[in-house]
Amino acid sequence: MRFLLDNPTFAMACQQFDQAADLLELPQNLRERTKWPKRLVTVAIPVRMDSGEVYVFSGYRVQHHLSLGPTKGGIRYAPSVDLGEVAALAMWMSWKCALMQLPYGGAKGGVACDPAMLSRRECEALTRRYTQELISFIGARSDIPAPDLGTDEQIMAWMMDTYSTHAGFAVPEIVTGKPVPIGGSLGRREATGRGVAFLVNRAAEICKLCSPLRVIVQGFGNVGSHAALELVRTGSRVIGVSDRTGAIHRAGGIDLSALRQHVARRGGVQGFPEAEPIDDREILLQPCDVLIPAAVERMITGEIAGKIQCRILAEGANGPTTPEADKVLAERPEVFLLPDILCNSGGVVTSYFEWVQDLQSFFWSEREVYDALYRILEQALSTILKRAGREKSSMRMAALMIGIERVAEAKRLRGLFP
Ligand code: NAD
Repeated sequence: MRFLLDNPTFAMACQQFDQAADLLELPQNLRERTKWPKRLVTVAIPVRMDSGEVYVFSGYRVQHHLSLGPTKGGIRYAPSVDLGEVAALAMWMSWKCALMQLPYGGAKGGVACDPAMLSRRECEALTRRYTQELISFIGARSDIPAPDLGTDEQIMAWMMDTYSTHAGFAVPEIVTGKPVPIGGSLGRREATGRGVAFLVNRAAEICKLCSPLRVIVQGFGNVGSHAALELVRTGSRVIGVSDRTGAIHRAGGIDLSALRQHVARRGGVQGFPEAEPIDDREILLQPCDVLIPAAVERMITGEIAGKIQCRILAEGANGPTTPEADKVLAERPEVFLLPDILCNSGGVVTSYFEWVQDLQSFFWSEREVYDALYRILEQALSTILKRAGREKSSMRMAALMIGIERVAEAKRLRGLFP
């Protein structure tokens, strides 16, 4: 299996696992069973493009462990997607779900493509064929997809429709993050970003930072934009934003509704007239209270970690900080880290609520969703803080140790078949 997963992001997820497993003194037999993904699926997805040509895309789904319930995790559409990247993200989902005490193992899926280059018809054809190829691997009791980088509610609606057509009746619980009128949950769209904002505000209280917090966000998609909007709503000032088109800065604060309109029209933040353009690496190094990487993996390198000037590093993205950067941050205790598996967990926790609502055909108000979400986030933050204090470890290692320990314990209790 190892050679199939040769990828720098998978190597990083393994390095984090090994470090946490060493701290836990996890016995070798249990360690190997807990680490390796259970199932790896690769599919060929032929799509007739608008030009009339047939192009074959590569699609993946990885189910990391099945010991605590069905697997759960997003679907990513991006050129970088390969089996190793998807396996790393599935592994992180396992620790995240266990940390948040959800009855799930981790999964992830994706298609190697550039969604910005697909027409709507091509994207729908790709999504429906990908879902069809996965039909015997996914299910409401076995593996439940959700949106991630490059995918959205519409793509979840097409996945749900394709699966339901195959079943012969509506199966809304097959995916989460779908539109509300077909069984989605109120609050799911904004949940990851609002969860990030809730934890940032809690961290600011812990660090005794004064309002308004000056915030820089990398990535202005689902997670980054909703985190920024919620932070501004709760009294912060967003002074920098970057995305794949470029970066902008304005010390006095950026008008986010004007920026959202600009992004909708122009496809990115570049060229926004009410802020200064800045280099996309330099934006990360500007003085601020809160830095939120909410784009892709491995953006905070060792070199950048030594130069960032924030008090709170809030990981909206999965795996944005390399192990080399973690070593640098260990020497910088003034930077308070909200690790990814805690910081962006609002998404999967609310996906869990959506699944529960679909299974019961009984729907919650937005207030009920957010009350329950914030209670769970608060509890997880406090458990991690206590563990980090007791073990004298980083917030990342404390969060990983709790998640990994729970998965390993489930495996130990269930025993090894046969
Ligand atoms: P998205 O596709 O909605 O937005 C991604 C954003 O990142 C876009 O603004 C894009 O331009 C930007 N970006 C991409 N590459 C970049 C680069 N090299 N430099 C700067 N910006 C770049 O995706 P999303 O759903 O917001 O996901 C972002 C991150 O959050 C991913 O790591 C994803 O795995 C993680 N995440 C998402 C959810 C969710 O509910 N959507 C939940 C948990 C974690």
